[in-house]
Order: sequence, then structure tokens, then C-alpha cells
Amino acid sequence: MEDEIYFKDSNLSWKNISSELKKSLDKDTFQNWIKPIVFESYQNNILSLSVPTRFLRDWIIKNYAPVIKRICLDDGFSIEKLIIIVKEKNERAIPGTEVVYQEKEKEKEKDEDTYYDDISAPLDPKFTFDNFIVGKPNELAYAAAQRVAESEVVSFNPLFLYGGVGLGKTHLMHAVAWAIKKRSPKKNVVYLTAEKFMYQFIKALRFKNIMNFKEQFRSVDVLMIDDVQFIIGKDNTQEEFFHTFNTLVDKKRQIIISADKSPADLEGLEDRLKSRLGWGLVADIHPLTYELRLGILQSKAEQKQLTLSPEVLEFLSNKITNNVREMEGALNRLAVHGSLHQSEITVEMVKDVLKDLLRTNSRKITIDEIQKKVTEHYNIRLSDMHSPRRSRSIARPRQVAMYLAKSITTRSLPEIGRKFGGRDHTTVIHAIKTIEEIISNDPNLAEDIEILTRILQTS
Ligand code: ADP
Ligand code: MG
Repeated sequence: MEDEIYFKDSNLSWKNISSELKKSLDKDTFQNWIKPIVFESYQNNILSLSVPTRFLRDWIIKNYAPVIKRICLDDGFSIEKLIIIVKEKNERAIPGTEVVYQEKEKEKEKDEDTYYDDISAPLDPKFTFDNFIVGKPNELAYAAAQRVAESEVVSFNPLFLYGGVGLGKTHLMHAVAWAIKKRSPKKNVVYLTAEKFMYQFIKALRFKNIMNFKEQFRSVDVLMIDDVQFIIGKDNTQEEFFHTFNTLVDKKRQIIISADKSPADLEGLEDRLKSRLGWGLVADIHPLTYELRLGILQSKAEQKQLTLSPEVLEFLSNKITNNVREMEGALNRLAVHGSLHQSEITVEMVKDVLKDLLRTNSRKITIDEIQKKVTEHYNIRLSDMHSPRRSRSIARPRQVAMYLAKSITTRSLPEIGRKFGGRDHTTVIHAIKTIEEIISNDPNLAEDIEILTRILQTS
């Protein structure tokens, strides 16, 4: 669509510019870096473009801004400023991501050069094991990460961490890197995102120093690649990644990979890579439980020297359920608000200050969705959720759905009862108690609940 938009007062389109670029670039480079660019506007000699990631933005600014300007100029359009902003998939511009390119910024470019040439990305000093709060949903991933950090020999390769956004995958990888660097400063520990891996690879292709690229990657002691789902569909990069991976495994070097799904569920990834990635230990981080949310909130509030009453902590743990990043965002806002107003933080105040955040967290999952997923899972009819039937095979899933309705939505007990064929709230309480009891003895049901929670929170 954006291809069809014509620049104001002109007969030149972004399509023309991108097809000019296409002529001078190889197919992969064009596909990966230029194709995702969306034309936003051209006014007063300012050309605005948007891209889906910060990384892409930086790459374009660094490598293509001058070319884009020149092509425009060739066509008679002078560009004083080129602005690139990052937009999420849902088209919302992410505030603060706007970068302006102007010719004068030569100094800055130089800095970026040295930054990009280091194949490892910087590590966040806050992402250590000490700062990681452990609970049921992440204990396996945590233990595995610690094991990798502590052991001299490679015990499982790769360590594959997966889970939803903001659940601590990057945090754990950095923690391993810090721990290894501390213990063995000489070890070459490389951490980077799959996106940056691709960037390095394409850059090497472009400057014809693939040998150097291979050499750099194949001489690392520990390689961590974050968000590997990013390379799905990027065939050449995937191929190169596969070779790098194999070489390192053969040399008995530790590899740690993260993704948003398990290897088997990474649709579109080559089969041989899928199976390779599952060879070591696959550890997932589950959606956070109430207890873990509470623990994390307590610890983060303490770090920020923010005093919160038990009521406020309980309220937040109940309402902000998606991921830790949102919890941190909430605490930051409360800290600012508290210090500005010099007042004690009450639940009322939290409701007010975090209105928008609370809304997105509660709007997410409806009871209807829960009923639908639960009936699909147990292979019963949707009408069974409302029917008076009491046979075990139907009553149990119905209780599971009620339990989930209470644990993931903000609906009250009477509201939940109404949604289940007009049942009384005491029936809902009974259902929740029953499920809680069974979960503690029956790992199968506990797993059902986990799976359903995950499906609901990620769909
Ligand atoms: P992911 O890579 O899985 O999307 P991150 O590792 O970037 O998530 O985590 C998002 C934020 O939440 C980070 O600031 C991280 O420190 C914090 N975080 C996540 N899990 C925990 C945890 N268990 N304890 C403390 N902080 C956590
Ligand atoms: Mg991450």
C-alpha cells in the first residue's frame, strides 16, 4: 500500500526510490533491509520513514541514508532531513525512537562503526543472577543457566531457553555471560541478538569478508544468540547460523539460544536446525504465577526504595500479569508519582496512575475466550460450559474454566457465575477450591492449567 503513496506535489513515489535501491543491492540485502521501510511523509524537505525495529533504523541511518538522499536529489527532491521512526506491528509509533539523519553527523557515525564491529552486544549490568527472582515458572531455566555458568565442561549443548515476552530470557543470558566473565576473564563470551547476527553476516557478504566473519564467530568460547525466531525465513542467515552452530558444537563450545517458542514450535525454521536446537536442554519459562509476580514486585520496589503497602503489592500482582517489563514500568511510574506528590501510595492512587496499563492488562482475556480454549482443549462442546450437566467429563473442564476466569481475568465471582449458565458465586468458589486441591496432587491437571494459561496469554 505504502508503495502507492506519492510524495506531495510530485510524481515521484517511494516505489521509485526503492526500485533504484534495488538495482544497486543484492537480493537478500534489499529484501531484509529496504523492503520493510514504510514511507510516512515528505514535507518541507523532510522525508519521514518508519521501520519495525530499532536495529533496522540504525542500520539504514548508517548505511543507506546518504544513498536515499542522493537518489531523491537525482530525481529533483532535496532532502534536508531524513527521519526514521520505529513503529510496532500494530502501527503505533514507539515514542522516543525517532532518529534524524543529517550530513554533518560524521563524528557520531564513527562511534557507531566501532560499536558495530564488536560482534558481541553490550551486557546490561542489572541483568545478573543476584537480581533474578526465582519461582516455579522459571526455576528450571534458572537452574540450567546457573549450571552452564558454573560448570567447566559443556554438559548440554545448546541450552535453549524459551518463553513469552518479558519473562527474563535476556536477563538470564546476560547473567550467564557476567558469571562466566567473572570466573574466567579470558574466555571469549559473545552475546548478541539473532538480528545482529544477521546484520553482521550481511555486512560481511557486502564487504566480501566472509572469511573474517566465520573466523570471528568460530573462535568464541561461549556463544549466546537471543531471539532466534528472528532468522526464520531468512534463508541465507539461517544457513550460516546452522554452520556456525555446528562448528561450535563440534569444538565443544557452549551455546545458549533463546526464542519465543520451543524448537519444535518454531514454524518455518528448517527441520535440521529445529532438531539440532533441541539436542541439548530445552527449558521454558512459564507465564508468571501470582507468587512470583509478588516476589518480583517486592524486590524491584525495594531496589527503587519505593515503599508499598501489602495491599498495593497484592493489587499490582493481581492486575499486572503479562510480563515483568510492564511490572517495572508500573513501579517506575509510581515512584515518580510518589516523589512528586510526597504522598503515601494507596490502591486508589495506583488505580488512577496506572489506568491505561490496568486496562490493557484486563482487556486482554475474556471469559468467552477462556471457555472456548478450554472446550477445545478437552474436546467438549461450548454449550457444556453453560449447561447444568454434572458428569465428571464435563464438570471438570467447566471448573477449570472457572478457575482460569478467576486467575486471569479481573471479573468478580458473581460475574463469572453468570457467564457459566447463571451459576451462583458459591459454585464458582467451590470450583476454584476443587481445582486448587487437585492441582497440588495431580501433575497432569497442573500441566493442563499451565498450557491453557499460556495459550490464553499468548494468543
Ligand atoms: P525477555 O528477554 O524474556 O523478553 P527480559 O529478560 O528482557 O525478557 O526481561 C524483561 C525485564 O524484566 C528485565 O528488566 C528483567 O530484568 C526483568 N525480569 C524478568 N524476569 C525477572 C525475574 N525473574 N526477576 C527479576 N527481574 C526479571
Ligand atoms: Mg529478550
